[in-house]
Amino acid sequence: MRVVLVHYHEIGLKGHNRADFERRLQTNLRWATEPITGARATRLSRRITVPVPDESRADEVLAAIARTPGVAYAGYAIECAREPEAMEAAAVEVTLEEMARLAGGAPASARPRTFRIDARRSATDYAERSLAMNERLGDAVRQATGLGVDLGAPDITCAVEVVQARAYAYARRIAGPGGLPVGVSGTVVALLSAGIDSPVAAWQVMRRGATVVGIHFSGRPQTPGRSERLAADLAGVLSRSGGMRRLYVVPFGDVQREIALATPESLRVLLYRRFMMRVAERVAAAERAGALVTGESLGQVASQTLENIAAVDAVARLPVLRPLIGSDKLEIMERASQIGTYDLSIASDDDCCSLFMPRAPETHASLGVVEEAEVALDIDGLVERALAGMTSADFDGPWRKRTAPAVRP
Ligand code: ATP
Ligand code: MG
Repeated sequence: MRVVLVHYHEIGLKGHNRADFERRLQTNLRWATEPITGARATRLSRRITVPVPDESRADEVLAAIARTPGVAYAGYAIECAREPEAMEAAAVEVTLEEMARLAGGAPASARPRTFRIDARRSATDYAERSLAMNERLGDAVRQATGLGVDLGAPDITCAVEVVQARAYAYARRIAGPGGLPVGVSGTVVALLSAGIDSPVAAWQVMRRGATVVGIHFSGRPQTPGRSERLAADLAGVLSRSGGMRRLYVVPFGDVQREIALATPESLRVLLYRRFMMRVAERVAAAERAGALVTGESLGQVASQTLENIAAVDAVARLPVLRPLIGSDKLEIMERASQIGTYDLSIASDDDCCSLFMPRAPETHASLGVVEEAEVALDIDGLVERALAGMTSADFDGPWRKRTAPAVRP
């Protein structure tokens, strides 16, 4: 029978939380794979196995596992009895299969030529030592495949693991995102523009085990609000990792208009941001979120200087997490490509922040000046107005229970 043998590492470090973390990863993997496999993931000691009854869907199953936070890596394995002959046959079969997969379409010069066996026993009642397993299985694979042994940089690594009562052999291995299973780190509210950075920021916090509730501000009714569709699509991509619970959309154009009419032009962007923070905090309170998340990177644009970040943070009571603060744009773009948000993000056009854009935005605002500018505004009234137009959409995920949107229009 084919199974994916899933490994995690960081979870092992968490002492008494471990059982909870493992259960959570199992639940999340079930949610990600059961609709494809129709079979349940099970927990072994320090591993999770995902059965793959229909081998033609292996790629889909592996892709779903590869985007699940908490997964370190996984092998597409044959599960067999922990008997020498069965393990040898399984090792030969997965190696031949991997040879064929790597050779597919590759020029003859790039075909795999070498292999190594990576044998492990995590079952303490299995007598044979891994060194002896390596030799025995290595001989069998060498004879059956004609590959040469290379312990340093082989073309194929065939892993054979004895775990509890069974053995698992795999040569095809995929990397997971690492991190922690979603659900172990509480909830955050992520400010999601339709740009490149904020979806990556939200994903990074999701990868550390947080459930994400997104909030997007559009320029509607002052703009057609096309960014709303993009934000929803971006949240949809993030939701495939099993950690995007809900997306709130706030038509923000009228609030921006009020701000633009009553305050100095150079402060507009900062004032928009301060109002976004206030609205996001209201949502966070209702969602019982422990932090806000934004996609700023230090100095990237005018609004992301230390002074301006401080001027925006001053209205927030919750911690504002900025996972990208030390990242370069190129790194962020690469990550966006990896997680599948890049192409959507570069399509964004009428983000609300381009509305009533100042010609010369303030780059080093002092909090005093910003607060003084806000005296001209009915702060609570504008926040209420933004909340009144807000809508929300829910995403599927491994949730224990559904919750009603806590902030209603
Ligand atoms: P991004 O690529 O995420 O749009 P950016 O480089 O364009 O970021 P800014 O426009 O300064 O940077 O925005 C900083 C952060 O403020 C964003 O990363 C996002 O978290 C939040 N933000 C900006 N605009 C919006 C919006 N329309 N809706 C929700 N959040 C927003
Ligand atoms: Mg932006």
